[in-house]
Parts: sequence; structure tokens; C-alpha cells
Amino acid sequence: MYIVMLGAPGSGKGTIGKILSNDLNLVHISTGDIFREQINKSTDLGKKIKKYLDDGALVPDDVVIETIKARLLEQDVESGAILDGFPRTVAQAEALRDFFENNKPGAKRVAIELDVPDDEIIKRVVNRLICTNKSCGAIYNKETKPPKVENVCDVCGSPLKRRADDNKETVTKRLKIYHENSTDLINFYRNNNALYSIYPQNLDVAVKSIKEFLKEYKRK
Ligand code: ADP
Ligand code: ZN
Repeated sequence: MYIVMLGAPGSGKGTIGKILSNDLNLVHISTGDIFREQINKSTDLGKKIKKYLDDGALVPDDVVIETIKARLLEQDVESGAILDGFPRTVAQAEALRDFFENNKPGAKRVAIELDVPDDEIIKRVVNRLICTNKSCGAIYNKETKPPKVENVCDVCGSPLKRRADDNKETVTKRLKIYHENSTDLINFYRNNNALYSIYPQNLDVAVKSIKEFLKEYKRK
């Protein structure tokens, strides 16, 4: 099964995506994580896209589409994946649909929308702290989910840090861009695939109801 996570930056796509990935044994693919890794390693791709991430702007569709297609053809993706942060535009959604039709025609596909009010998003993102250990990647919040020891990951003990683009100015811009695309994107999935929308106020409750939906969906 292939699960597309839709939602504004800071809506919980990463957190919920990772939980589902563990529980359902599906690889978690985050275009944002792929891009940040390329930037850290100063690869050609990383150099090309750094300005977009610093700016809170979208990476051009052709670059994103090429990156995700290559990732989806890797071995570990055979039985499904959770896509976190892709697609973000209708052009990307169409490219993904075409990719599936050509490469994985029978694959079950479903979209989950995390619908969170903007004022709450801003609060979440400016307080967000992320584990610097890439294989862990646990996400905290200074106010709502602080680590037990300040700036230290509960799970693996690595230092925590704020993402470079998690400041109020960039978040506001990322939200604006999200809303410019989200109506069309969500309609695309409403018309083409199964779509499940939820306001994830409580993490455990949200995960539970998403899983119930997925179980039902799988049976169909
Ligand atoms: P968030 O959802 O909090 O914005 P991500 O880690 O998903 O964080 O993305 C970080 C940045 O990476 C985005 O602001 C954008 O510059 C770039 N990016 C990630 N995914 C895409 C995509 N599908 N299309 C265009 N740009 C993307
Ligand atoms: Zn950690």
C-alpha cells in the first residue's frame, strides 16, 4: 500500500508518517528529509535546491518528481511506502499517478489529509525540535512535548535542534504556499483515490482512527 500524507507544514505529517511507517512496516519517504540530506552533503542536487529550502519556497516540480521517482524504484519500496511531503502540487500528483500506472499498476493508493488550523501550526512549528541523529529523527515540541532532558533526545540521547526553516517568517510563507495548492491537490485525491481527512488534535487518537480507516480500505 502507498500512503500519501497531505497537510500543511507542521500538521504532523512527519510524526504520524513515522508512526504509521513503524506500525505498518512501510518505508517512510520524506522529500524534505531527502533534500536536507543532499544539502548537508553538498551534492549537486543539494547545491541546486538549497535556496528554495532556505526561502521556504517549493523546489521546482521537475526536480522533485525526478528525485521521488528514483527513490520509489529502490528495492525497499517494493511492497509500499508512506510519502511525506510529496506531492505538494497537482502537477506532482499527476506525475505520481502516471508513475504508478507505468511501474506499479496494481498498487493500492490512498491519501490522508491532516487538517490543522494555521494559528496552531505556527505555534507547533516555532517550538519544534528535531533529533539530529538521522536514523532516529524523533520530533519534539518545547511546549507540548518537551524532551525529558533539555535539548536531548529521549529515544537515542542525541542533541536536538531547530530546523533552519522553522522560524515564524518562513513558516508563514510555507503555509501560504500550502494553501495556494492544497484545495486543488485535495480535490485531485478526492476524485482519484480514497481520501481520509482528520484534524489530529490528539496524536494517539488520530493514529488509531487512521489505522482503522486503512484497515477498512485494505479490505475493499
Ligand atoms: P514542511 O512540511 O514542514 O514544510 P518538509 O520537510 O516537508 O517540511 O519540506 C521542507 C522544504 O523542502 C519545503 O519548504 C520545500 O522547500 C522542500 N520540499 C519538500 N517537498 C517538496 C515538494 N514535494 N515539492 C516542492 N518542494 C518540496
Ligand atoms: Zn533521537
